Amino acid sequence: MKRLVILGGGESGVGTAILGKKKGYDIFVSDKGKIAKKYKEVLLNNKIEFEENNHTESKILNADVVMKSPGIPDKVDLIQKLKKNSISVISEIEFAAQFTDATIVGITGSNGKTTTTLLTYHILKNANFNVGVAGNIGDSFAQQVAEQDFDNYVLELSSFQLDGIQDFAPHIAVITNITPDHLDRYEYDFNNYIASKFRITKNQKTTDYLIYDADDEAINNWLKKNKTKAKLIPFSIERELEFGAFIRKNNIIININKDIFNMPLSTLTIKGKHNTKNAMAATMTAQLLKARRQVIKESLEDFEGAEHRLEQVAKVKGVEYINDSKATNINATFYALECMDKTTVWIVGGVDKGNDYNDLLPLVREKVKAIVCLGVDNEKIKNTFGNVVDIIVETVGAEEAVKVSHKLAERGETVLLSPACASFDLFKNYEDRGIQFKNAVKNL
Ligand code: ADP
Repeated sequence: MKRLVILGGGESGVGTAILGKKKGYDIFVSDKGKIAKKYKEVLLNNKIEFEENNHTESKILNADVVMKSPGIPDKVDLIQKLKKNSISVISEIEFAAQFTDATIVGITGSNGKTTTTLLTYHILKNANFNVGVAGNIGDSFAQQVAEQDFDNYVLELSSFQLDGIQDFAPHIAVITNITPDHLDRYEYDFNNYIASKFRITKNQKTTDYLIYDADDEAINNWLKKNKTKAKLIPFSIERELEFGAFIRKNNIIININKDIFNMPLSTLTIKGKHNTKNAMAATMTAQLLKARRQVIKESLEDFEGAEHRLEQVAKVKGVEYINDSKATNINATFYALECMDKTTVWIVGGVDKGNDYNDLLPLVREKVKAIVCLGVDNEKIKNTFGNVVDIIVETVGAEEAVKVSHKLAERGETVLLSPACASFDLFKNYEDRGIQFKNAVKNL
């Protein structure tokens, strides 16, 4: 019996344990912190051995293979020791993919993964595909493979998940864009992070596809210097392409097969240039999988979008409130501000991962009348925008931020929560921040 040790007793760890058990592995789950109650129950019910608050090395270093949660960095001692002992350390995605023959769509990128994943899933579901959605988005891929193996999967993949693949190859890979993020895990070298994203295509064959943003500098540079076997399918919102997706006269045009796909941008439910790109990627994926054109169009017309991503919360006294709590980096907030077509009160701040706010200056100058800071340390924001925006107010909670914004915004204007930062100084996570914001708006 092969021994599978699983480091991390969260969603991916417990999902892997269930699949591993079904496939006859001897399993041990080890978590250095506490394991959440719901996961502990699953482990107990399945009679899977586990430990928490500790990594007992003697029980780990005898593994044949180790599945590491994406949250554990490679540089920790235990992982280094495993590697020194030539024990292969893989991600859930690598492990689970060995046990399914499904057609896999893998979606990665710095921003837009979740939206593109959900939209692709929405189209395929509407087209009656037998399809699951899993990965970074929340639900464990391995658990789905164990329990109801679908014919198709749409997987949202983070760079950490891709770092742990060896043979995994999606039939269709999507790279939405690549901008600096998570550099603390990549020795502060953007090139390492780019290489990690492109692992998604490393095992693809000539019959596979790579859909990518042809307007993205990092992606284009990589493609110039490196090779992939997959067929390349670009999308652009900046220029017309001979092959791929592009914009002509406010229509999305896609010419990857004989029938040209044509759809007015105004009929899409999700707005903004970034979402046009996400829609292009999802549409081309669905086309490659042969979903019917009419179903694709209808799905683009009724997709509700994802919570905390430019989510319209409510209109209060003529002021629109928008929750973009998921914008945890500058690029995401850039697109949010770009979408604003009314004068905006902008709620920003939190834990910044090395932000350079200067990229936002032109948009802020043009659209923002007041800044409401929502973080513990707001010095950088005040320094960058002090000369550009007259009103900058500091707040220490969602309720206060909403109340202050409510006072500042006038009828016909917008209040936008798009923090460009992580949330851990004042909130549990970005969802908590978004929910507190929405509740505060509802209480106005
Ligand atoms: P991810 O899962 O990659 O974090 P999401 O779809 O959750 O991406 O979107 C995260 C944030 O990025 C949101 O604030 C959203 O408005 C913004 N965003 C979505 N798609 C894109 C894109 N293609 N380019 C840039 N920003 C985007």
